[in-house]
Order: sequence, then structure tokens, then C-alpha cells
Amino acid sequence: MELQSSRFESLGAAFYTRLGPQPLADPYWVGCSPAAVADLGLPAAWPHSAAHLAQASGNALAPGASPLASVYSGHQFGVWAGQLGDGRALLLGERAGPEALWEVQLKGSGLTPYSRMGDGRAVLRSSIREFLCSEAMHALGVPSTRALCITGSPTAVRRERIETAAVVTRLAPSFIRFGHFEHFSRRGLHAELRALTEFVIAHHYPDCAAWPQPAQRTAALLAAVTRRTAELLAQWQALGFCHGVMNTDNMSILGLTIDYGPFQFMDGFDPQHICNHSDDGGRYAWAQQPRIALWNLYCLAQALLPLLDDLEQARAALQPFESHFAGALQQRLNAKLGLSELRPDDAQLSDDLLRLLADERADFTWFWRCLSDGVADYAHSARVADLGPARAQLQQSDAFDAWARRWRERLRSEAAHTPEQARALMRRSNPRLVLRNHLAQAAIEAAEQRQFEPLQRLQAALAQPYDDLPDCDDLAAAAPDWAAQIVLSCSS
Ligand code: AMP
Ligand code: MG
Ligand code: MG
Repeated sequence: MELQSSRFESLGAAFYTRLGPQPLADPYWVGCSPAAVADLGLPAAWPHSAAHLAQASGNALAPGASPLASVYSGHQFGVWAGQLGDGRALLLGERAGPEALWEVQLKGSGLTPYSRMGDGRAVLRSSIREFLCSEAMHALGVPSTRALCITGSPTAVRRERIETAAVVTRLAPSFIRFGHFEHFSRRGLHAELRALTEFVIAHHYPDCAAWPQPAQRTAALLAAVTRRTAELLAQWQALGFCHGVMNTDNMSILGLTIDYGPFQFMDGFDPQHICNHSDDGGRYAWAQQPRIALWNLYCLAQALLPLLDDLEQARAALQPFESHFAGALQQRLNAKLGLSELRPDDAQLSDDLLRLLADERADFTWFWRCLSDGVADYAHSARVADLGPARAQLQQSDAFDAWARRWRERLRSEAAHTPEQARALMRRSNPRLVLRNHLAQAAIEAAEQRQFEPLQRLQAALAQPYDDLPDCDDLAAAAPDWAAQIVLSCSS
């Protein structure tokens, strides 16, 4: 893969250390994303080459690569953690695809000056989770870093148990995090902070460049990041996605989902669900995510203060978060309910359903998909029996029926929106397939035996999450009991 040096590199030596990847013994292909191959403008046969296997595992450099590890800092679990940085990732360079310019990173490519106590490696288990979920999120329409491919190696890596190493090739328009801004701000390096801010505006937020004053541009950037973050969180919440480690170093300045660790798409709906075993206090529980995002935006605002006129400018940029998030979430919940218009009472309707689902820990993805399939018949007939598969998931059928009558009335009050249109809207808002923990786990266990068919089958299905693919009932079904025993921690 031909690369060019990254625009990030032009920021200068304060932002990174140049170094190359450390080789891995006997690399092998684990998987490759056809969608990412196309988005990079690579030939479909790209993963069928020994030279590309060597590049993807860090044993050779792609032509034009100019590898570097960037430095950032951050707040972890609400506490200032000081310097972090790319402890096991390298930015190789950039590549222009047919529609966008992509930064290309290796993750798991060895020690860097920012590895701290870590070994610079990533294990196959967590690399498969990142690879699958990055591409699944993209297919769901959720902004995310992408994953081109994953390679493995028999090299042993110690975590809770001995595992083996892997490298993921990640893609994003930029990997800059809130923590990059915090790093330079905390150190009083205001020239670098300004250069970083102007860089992000110039390359990623061109609308903010129109303001004549630097403080105005900075405030516009903060407001735009606030908006994108609110929209991202609305998408996470509407899909029942828990990120698991929303530290400020894991917050993308572009509003992308980044850093896939102990994430989880909820099975049974529980607003207080904690997916990260290391998160004792439930700081990153599903219901907390929006306010944690705002907390993180405050950290970003604090970091940008030296570039702003005053505190009021920062406050004004952050202030729209809550209403913007609430509006974006309600829009998505309405789409999940087949409603194309937004009305004041709609929050009551969706809240009441979510409460019912939470009371019974109903399977989040499955329930919404069943509701989508039944909506057209129900809207025509008013027979709750037409909602059978959704209704069957709840014990409190009287409560559900009462709710369903309100929903039907609301559906029928939509101007110029037929039950069939409601069904179509619901089916593109309520995926049939998400990367459930136990599905990832099964693909991982097979891949650990070098059997990649389950991974490939899962990957192909997750690329069309809203379709009724044939022979995928097992992937769409609610989780088996053993799924609850899967323990995910920060260890990856
Ligand atoms: P995370 O919890 O994944 O956001 O990682 C926090 C910090 O630890 C980042 O600076 C990572 O680069 C670093 N890190 C995580 N795992 C490793 C590892 N195995 N080796 C080196 N650095 C790591
Ligand atoms: Mg991280
Ligand atoms: Mg991580």
C-alpha cells in the first residue's frame, strides 16, 4: 500500500517520536475488510499478498511510510493521568482513497516511548473485537475509526492468561483525541496548543476557519466538537452500545467512536449496565455515557481556555450539549418507533417503553427488530397479536398493550406517513445484527485455533446489519445464558 507522510507529521517534533514497528514472528492473516479495502482505493486482492502481510504485521514498511508515535495525555476514570500517548500504535502515514484522505495506523506494533508499563502489543482476542466492531459500527452508520485488516502471530503475550499477539491496521481521517489538547495545555505549551487547534480546524472543521479572531475560531471548534459528540452519544444510546472506557484520551476530536476495549452492545436492557469489569463504580454505565461525554467536553474546554477570551466563551460553546443530545436522541428513538415527525409528547412514549424493557431486561436489539416487523400489520389491524414476537418478550402484557395502543394512535396521526413507511423507517433504525459479546467470543475462540470461517461469516453479516440475511437467525437471536459470564476488562 503506497502511503504519503501524514499532515499530522507537519505539526513538528513536539507532537510525536519517530520510530518503526517491531517485527512479529511468523505472521498470518486473520481478517480483512472489503469495505475498508475499497475506501482506501486498494485492489480487492490486496490481502492475498505476502508483501502486504509483512506490512500489516509491522515486519516491513509500506512504501512512503513515515511512522511515528504521537504523545497525548488524559483523564482516566475521572482522574488526571498525565502523559499517555501511542503506547502500542504507530501512525504510518496517509493515503488518499476515492472519497477521503485516511491516516493509517498499526495497533499492537511494539514498544514506543509512551508504552509506560505496557508491552506495546495487543492480543488476538481484543484485536478481533476492535476489527469487527469498527467495521460493524461503520455499517450501522455510526461514526467510527475503521479497521482495514488484522494479522496474528504465535508470539506469546501475557495478560490474565498467556495469549498471542495481533496487529490491527486502523484508519481514520484523524486519530487526534481530546487528550492531545490536554497534553499541551497542562504543560503550558500554548504555541503548540494553538498549532494543534489551527491544524484541526484547517483540515477537519473548515467551517470554523471563517472567524477572523483565533479565540472565535477556537470557540467555534469547541462548539462543533460538542455537537458531533452529542450526536455520537445519541447514536450509541439508541443502539444500546456501551463504550466501557470513556476516558478523555479515548474521545475523538472528530466525534468518532475510538478505542474498542471492553465495549458491549447490551443484550438484556439495563440502563445501569456496566460492561467494563474494571469499572467498579459504574462511571461508564450505559445511562451515564451522555453526562460523561459532557464531562469530557469540559476537560477539552478547560484545555482550550488559554486560547479563548474568557470562561463565558467556553461555557457558551458547551451549553448546547444537553439540548442537542436530547433532540438527537429523541429523533433516533422516534425513528426506532417509526415516527417521522417530532412532537412534544414523544419523549413520554419512548421513555415508557424503555422503562418496560428495563423492568424485564428485554433483549434490546431483538425487541426493537421484532417491533419493526410487526408495525405495519398492527397499525392497520389494531390487533396486538400482530406484535406477537415483540410482545412475547414481556411478562407485563397488559402494560405493553396499553402502551401499544398509544403508539398506534401516534403512528396513525402522522401526516403523509403510511404504516409501510413506518415499517421501512423502523427497519433501517433497528438493526437485526449487532456485535454481541458472545458472537465475538465464538469467533475469537475459533480464530485462536486458526479457524477463521466463523469470523468471516460474522464479519460479512455485520456488514449488512439492517437486512434480513438468510441463514443468520443464530446471529440475530438473543444471547444464550453463558453470555452473561463473559468478563471484559481493560486488559487487551
Ligand atoms: P486505553 O485504556 O486502551 O485507552 O490505553 C491507555 C493508555 O495505555 C494508552 O496510552 C495506550 O497506548 C496505553 N496502552 C494500553 N495497552 C498497552 C500496551 N499493551 N502496551 C503499551 N501501552 C499500552
Ligand atoms: Mg486509549
Ligand atoms: Mg485501548
